[in-house]
Amino acid sequence: MSVTVRVPAKVNVQLAVGAARPDGFHDLANVFLAVGLYDEVTVTPADELRITCSGPDAAQVPLDATNLAARAAIALAGRHGIEPRAHIHIAKDIPVAGGMAGGSADGAGALLACDALWSTGATRDELLAICAELGSDVPFSLVGGAALGVGRGEQLTPVEVGGTFHWVFAVADGGLSTPAVYREFDRLTAGTRVPEPAASGALLNALRAGDTAALADALSNGLQPAALSLRPSLADTLAAGTTAGAAAALVSGSGPTTAFLAEDEASARKVADALMASGTCRNARIATSPAPGATIC
Ligand code: ATP
Repeated sequence: MSVTVRVPAKVNVQLAVGAARPDGFHDLANVFLAVGLYDEVTVTPADELRITCSGPDAAQVPLDATNLAARAAIALAGRHGIEPRAHIHIAKDIPVAGGMAGGSADGAGALLACDALWSTGATRDELLAICAELGSDVPFSLVGGAALGVGRGEQLTPVEVGGTFHWVFAVADGGLSTPAVYREFDRLTAGTRVPEPAASGALLNALRAGDTAALADALSNGLQPAALSLRPSLADTLAAGTTAGAAAALVSGSGPTTAFLAEDEASARKVADALMASGTCRNARIATSPAPGATIC
């Protein structure tokens, strides 16, 4: 008796970052798009909570109670007065610490899987509330598709997507810590006036229309200068993809994964081949969007 949930990675097609608030967080206008790279989270009854992980990046994933999948199981069990007795296995395909919300995906996946395994009867709103407690990217991993996140990014409004977008993701060697990238953002913007973050109408229209050229013009990531400052070599990766014909290139979230929007599948393949040949990344992955949120297999 086990439950498997498939859960997607995300790319931020817009990430507008406000000035640091007194509590240290930043207000965001964050347009998430789920992309078809997936982790699979399988939960099985066990005597105690245990996490295992497989996949090329498995060695970088913590297997203790700090794992977001473990935290999700503990939070759900705690609310329902039960013990979190489960073996959670993560088959990891989303790059770790890559700015693609892999940990958040596993948190949402484990939550949905444990909810089914334990028949808690939790409502969708309760699951979303637990996701928001786990981290600002976790609610989106549950819902998928595309959404605008405001506040710390966790207050979501669905966004319509009118077509399929083709992406290439260049996976970098090593990760970048999201808090470190925000600290670098604070350092780079110190003494300047940081505008209030607001969603781009042009970007939302491009998504709605399924218009690749318009989306390419509207993509933006306020964390990109900070990620490039911490990892200057990412500029070479961005240039390699653009030279190969990508319609647009940007750092994915806090990086160091870089994202390339392509006109079609053939162009995506050409960009991926050129990125691999350039030696500026560890791997290049092709994926389409939008992708569904966490789904029981
Ligand atoms: P985001 O895009 O949400 O900022 P990210 O994709 O950059 O996140 P993650 O892959 O989520 O980064 O990992 C960030 C850190 O979280 C890892 O270095 C790891 O220590 C920790 N972590 C906790 N749980 C997990 C998990 N299930 N999978 C991967 N990392 C996890």
